[in-house]
Order: sequence, then structure tokens, then C-alpha cells
Amino acid sequence: MIGAGMAGLAAAVELAEAGDELVVLEASDGPGGRVRTDSVDGHLLDRGFQILLTAYPEAQRLLDYDALDLRPFAPGALVRIGAAFHRVGDPLREPTSLLDTVRAPIGSPLDKARILALRRAATSGDLAELWHRPETSAAERLREAGFSTSMIERFLRPLFSGITLDSSLGGSSRVLEFVFRMLSTGDAAVPARGMGAIPEQLAARLPAGALRLSTPVAAVSDSSVTLENGETLSAGRVIVATGMTEAAKLTGLDDRGWRGVTSVWLAADEPPITEPMLVLNGSGFGPINSMAVMSQVSPNYAPPGSSTIVVSSPEIRPGLVADMRRQLASWFGPAANRWTELRIDEIARAQPTHPVGHDRTGAIQTGSGIWVCGDHLRDASINGAIGSGRALARSLSDAGAG
Ligand SMILES: Cc1cc2nc3c(=O)[nH]c(=O)nc-3n(C[C@H](O)[C@H](O)[C@H](O)COP(=O)(O)OP(=O)(O)OC[C@H]3O[C@@H](n4cnc5c(N)ncnc54)[C@H](O)[C@@H]3O)c2cc1C
Repeated sequence: MIGAGMAGLAAAVELAEAGDELVVLEASDGPGGRVRTDSVDGHLLDRGFQILLTAYPEAQRLLDYDALDLRPFAPGALVRIGAAFHRVGDPLREPTSLLDTVRAPIGSPLDKARILALRRAATSGDLAELWHRPETSAAERLREAGFSTSMIERFLRPLFSGITLDSSLGGSSRVLEFVFRMLSTGDAAVPARGMGAIPEQLAARLPAGALRLSTPVAAVSDSSVTLENGETLSAGRVIVATGMTEAAKLTGLDDRGWRGVTSVWLAADEPPITEPMLVLNGSGFGPINSMAVMSQVSPNYAPPGSSTIVVSSPEIRPGLVADMRRQLASWFGPAANRWTELRIDEIARAQPTHPVGHDRTGAIQTGSGIWVCGDHLRDASINGAIGSGRALARSLSDAGAG
């Protein structure tokens, strides 16, 4: 197995627990791939702002949520519009909170009824049926549902693109319905000690010695792996779980393109917002998409007497961070200029695109006999990556039985 991201770890755990002997070769110095957490000056920084939606069915099947000590965000969001923040209740999970939302200048009363209709559509039927519904773009799906431009621009676009990094809303409407279903039926949460606790939990389930870190792979065939240091290992089966671009290099599969993000991590003496809430930019101006004071969600994210803030933008460009800081100062006043930068994460390959027509096979065997899994073969999320790894383990046990 090549790659110890969420897909590779999910496949490896299932295969090892079914009795297969395996070795996971990972290029970097730790498990998790795109889901890792670093400690910087006592602050926990995830690699880019990420959340676990607790309703993810594949995550529920594989992870021990209690051991992760999940800390939920408060339902709803604080939406910046004009010169003020407006609390938007969580009409998806608590229809009664519509009353809160009615007071926010976001959409019309009709829009609020349409949210309930979208919630009904997203939560009806089983998930397999949702992924086979007639498909269009997310933007078209929202227009068909009748939402006003203000509702889309002030709330739905920032909310959806904060999770999927698809600010164009040009990707599949099925992803939109899936995300709305997850938001309607569970929490947005992080493990108390950061997102990296998720892959670490899986890595701890592997047999001793099965995970080899700092071991980059240069080339593969159906029965052998050549490491970058020139060593060749032979194997009964070779599984590539590297992420899309590296899988394309190793196996010749397509690289269909990525969505990127910039996340800026900041330290402040005082939390600018005391609630553990997602902040969305509904103003239509400026580079910021979302913001969260992570230490209000889980105090472990900051050392005593400090707060850890993460601010994200769908752009990656020179001058972006200065523009983000200017926007923060316009929201929070001069105090925001005193927040110190802990780290800037510019992640060009954050999530593979999910265009209309994308086939969510989950796992495949290439013409040359190499097995492949990863979020690019399902959907760009922790759930998609785990689902792909589990689909691979199922295909191999079927292949073994056959
Ligand atoms: C900034 C950001 C925000 C996100 N937000 C969310 C979110 O809020 N919620 C959500 O559910 N999902 C989110 N995602 C998506 C989610 O993190 C990914 O879909 C998922 O982690 C992908 O897992 P993977 O195993 O398919 O790939 P990866 O995590 O890319 O794992 C591939 C692994 O293979 C290793 N590798 C690559 N090449 C080689 C080689 N040649 N030899 C050996 N090893 C190699 C890599 O080092 C890596 O460890 C976000 C992603 C990012 C980056």
C-alpha cells in the first residue's frame, strides 16, 4: 500500500483486521496525508481549516468518536453583512431557529421556507439513492429550488464553499445535497486535540511495523514497488492510495484538477468571538470566506492566555494575506492588527474537483493490475476517502473469494 492518508489507512485497517499481511509506505513523516495537526508555539494548527461532519456514515463505521473526544461547533453561523455580524440559526437542524434567522438580513421569508424544502429533499431516501439523483451543478440546483440571489450570496455560497472549497458552485448538485444532509443530521466538529487525531487513531490500529514513514515510492507495477532510494520490494498486490496527482504519475490515471485554499492561523490575546461558531463572509466583498476561533471550540488549540484563530480564503495569490488582514481589521478594529501570524497554509491541491458526471466508483484496478483508492475516486471529503479505502478492501476480499 502506498500512502497513509485517510483512504490508505481505512483500507489498511480493514485489510489488516481481516488477516491480510501488509506494509504501508508513506512518503512524509507522519500518517494522515491532508489531515494532520502540528503544534506551533503551543497552538494546535491543522493543515488548512478542516472539520469532521459527525453524520458522515463511513466515518461513523470506522472511527471511535468517543475516543476522539469530539468538540462540536455551535449550530448555525455568524454571518458578516455590511457593518455587522448576524446570527443565523440552524434552520437545517432546528427549524424553530428560523425565528432567529428571520431577523438577519439574509434572504426572504420565502427563502426560509425553501431551506426547509431543501432539507427535506436532502434528508429523504437513502444515501445510495441521493448519489444517483438527477444531477446538475450546485448553482443550478439552488436556482431550481427558487432561492433568491441574496440568500445564495449571503449564506448558501459561503457555507457550502467553506466545506467543499467550491466557491464557483460549479460542481455536482449531489455533493450539495450530501453536504446539506450531513449538516442537517449531525454536528460540525473537531477532535479535542486537532484533526490529526483522526488518522492517528487509525494508524494505531495497524499491526506493529506495518506503517513505514519517510519512505517515498518512485514507481510501481502490479507486483512490485520501487522506492526513491532505489530499493525494490515485491508484493502480492500493489495499492496506490496517494492522492490524485501522484496516482496519475504512478499509474497513468487522469488528474482532473483541484480546488485550493489559503488558511491563515493567528494568535490573539483575547478571543474576538467567544462562541464556538463558524463565521462566514456574506458581504460579497473581500477575500475571506470563513473564520473560526478554534480555541473556543476546543481549548487545547491554544496555550493558556491565548486564542487560536483560523481564517480561510478560496484564493492563493501574492498579497492575499495582507488583504485578509485588512478585512479582519475592518471587522474587528485595530486589535486585529495585533494578532500574530502563526502559519500560512497555501494548499493548491486541497480537494479534487467533483464535476457533474463524476463516477464515484470508490476503488479501481487499472489495466496494468494496480489497485487505486483515494478521495478522487469517490468525493473530496474525509467520508469520501474512508469510503474509498473501505470499497477497496471489499473489492480485494471479493477478488480473493473469486
Ligand atoms: C485544506 C483542506 C480542507 C479540507 N476540508 C475538509 C473538511 O472540512 N471536511 C472534510 O470532510 N474533508 C475536507 N478536506 C478533504 C479531505 O481532507 C480529503 O478528502 C482526504 O483527507 C483525502 O484523503 P486521501 O487518503 O484520499 O488522500 P491524501 O490525504 O492526499 O493521502 C495521500 C497520502 O499518500 C502519500 N503519498 C503521496 N505520494 C506518495 C509516494 N510517492 N510515496 C509514498 N507516499 C506517498 C501522501 O504523503 C499522503 O500521506 C479538506 C482538505 C484540505 C486539504
